[in-house]
Amino acid sequence: MTQLERENLANLLFPQDLPLVEELKEKYLPRNIKGEVTRFAPSPTGFLHVGSLYTAFIAKTIANQSNGCFYLRIEDTDQQRMVENGIELIEKDLLSFGIMPDEGPLNEGIYGPYIQSHRKEIYHAFVKNLVKEGKAYPCFCQKEELESLRKAQELGKCRIGYYQEYATCRSLTFEEIKEKLEQKIPYVIRYYSKGSFNEKFTIHDEVKGEITMPCNDLDIILLKSDGLPTYHFAHVIDDYLMHTSIVIRGDEWLSSLPIHIQLFDDIFGFSPRYAHLAPLTTNDNGKVRKLSKRYDVHCKVSYYLEKGIPKDALKLYFATLMDPDFETWYMLDENHRLEDYTFSFSKMPIGGSLFDLEKLNSICKIYFAKESVDKLYPLFLEYYEKYDVEFADLMKGEEQKVKEFLSIEKNFLRPRKDIGCYADLKKEAWYIFNELFDRAKEKEHLDFFDDKVIFEYLEKNLWIAKDNDEWMSKLKEFLEKHHYAISMKDYKKNPENYQGSIASFCEMLRVMMTTKKVSPNLYELLTILGKEELLRRYQIYMKENFNEC
Ligand code: GLU
Repeated sequence: MTQLERENLANLLFPQDLPLVEELKEKYLPRNIKGEVTRFAPSPTGFLHVGSLYTAFIAKTIANQSNGCFYLRIEDTDQQRMVENGIELIEKDLLSFGIMPDEGPLNEGIYGPYIQSHRKEIYHAFVKNLVKEGKAYPCFCQKEELESLRKAQELGKCRIGYYQEYATCRSLTFEEIKEKLEQKIPYVIRYYSKGSFNEKFTIHDEVKGEITMPCNDLDIILLKSDGLPTYHFAHVIDDYLMHTSIVIRGDEWLSSLPIHIQLFDDIFGFSPRYAHLAPLTTNDNGKVRKLSKRYDVHCKVSYYLEKGIPKDALKLYFATLMDPDFETWYMLDENHRLEDYTFSFSKMPIGGSLFDLEKLNSICKIYFAKESVDKLYPLFLEYYEKYDVEFADLMKGEEQKVKEFLSIEKNFLRPRKDIGCYADLKKEAWYIFNELFDRAKEKEHLDFFDDKVIFEYLEKNLWIAKDNDEWMSKLKEFLEKHHYAISMKDYKKNPENYQGSIASFCEMLRVMMTTKKVSPNLYELLTILGKEELLRRYQIYMKENFNEC
């Protein structure tokens, strides 16, 4: 085709008024910041996957720690896979985890629009230019023709694809194209690849290191028959115009890298850095596989919100997956906070990262142990206001009690075992609310009960002490007077010599006050419940078990 024919073809394919490529480059000037520019570019095809949230978290963290910019770009060019409200769902999930983009559809910036389907004009302008330069052409091959090409290549044991001699529409003349357009035959626009599969290129990936791959020789599709771009093309145009400095994405895109590098080089003579992240995996009965939307309920980010996993605890877990040294650093000092840690791609795993709910749970316990009660209380309340209004109301009536319960055994080096998510508060602390205590049906049973000793202990307020140590020494003194064993070793040797043991006494108190044989620190619980309530619970116990008042 002559230059004139190419220009005519470009005008025939894109008769509408389009901006010039040079104008676009001038409009979206380089950003005036030193830090990294990263982005999260999800397709709104359903719920947000925890792996995507992990990617978004990494992109946000890398931008933040370098005083850069993190933006959200919605990749909605596959209209068939779109779901209704898909964009709102993504934004909502990101906000729920505090991963706020600096720019995006909600808070437009000067590099927008941030929704790809709104950028059609931009893609068309670039494709039109490529057609003029002879680097892109319309392809009228329909499904059936492509299918027979694939079969022929299979039979001939050739590499599958639309390339070189197999790219038949490359050689259509201007007249032939014009005729097909007049006949309204559907077409796509393909890139004319000059690459050779036998040549290789080497690139440095921020996570994977040096990678060598064959160059791309496929004439990939740039614009689909609906006029929207493919991922490959839109990625290159957008990440250039939005000035992304590092493309952070899942390593399922690694195999497409030769296409992207080729397009970047050819269209812009430049390409951003890449960081391809290993996927999150799960252990499925001994078989490690990628977390999957189909099989794993914990794949949906809403799972974590409903379970009451704090957003910051999930981020701490992400951090432990991103860097094997993070957890040790975090545990080293009470004041160490996630925001103060500096992450680097070189420490991120190259293979899959096992996403283990048990490990997440232990990180959550550390989180609850480390954060202040004043910070945690409103977060618990917010959870219950959403998922259990009755309990939220009870909490509001007993704020002090709840805070005291949350303060029990607060030591992040040996975190308490009972609170691993917001939902655990009700499971573990319901009995501190008189209303719930009175409704309790299933109560643990005691084989041994000594009502007189217990009554004296409660009635004389002997449990009141300034701290746990004083409480314990007063308790021992009291029990010795009543011929209870203080040492369990002695008791086990000669139980008949004693009225009971310190353990059996504490168990009586515990069951009576909480209905359970296991509870957090008893001294603190007695203090939280207070004089009146302790005696009231004693009476309830007597009534239920001995029919006495
Ligand atoms: N839209 C692509 C996806 O959802 C994004 C890949 C990328 O970050 O470039 O997988």
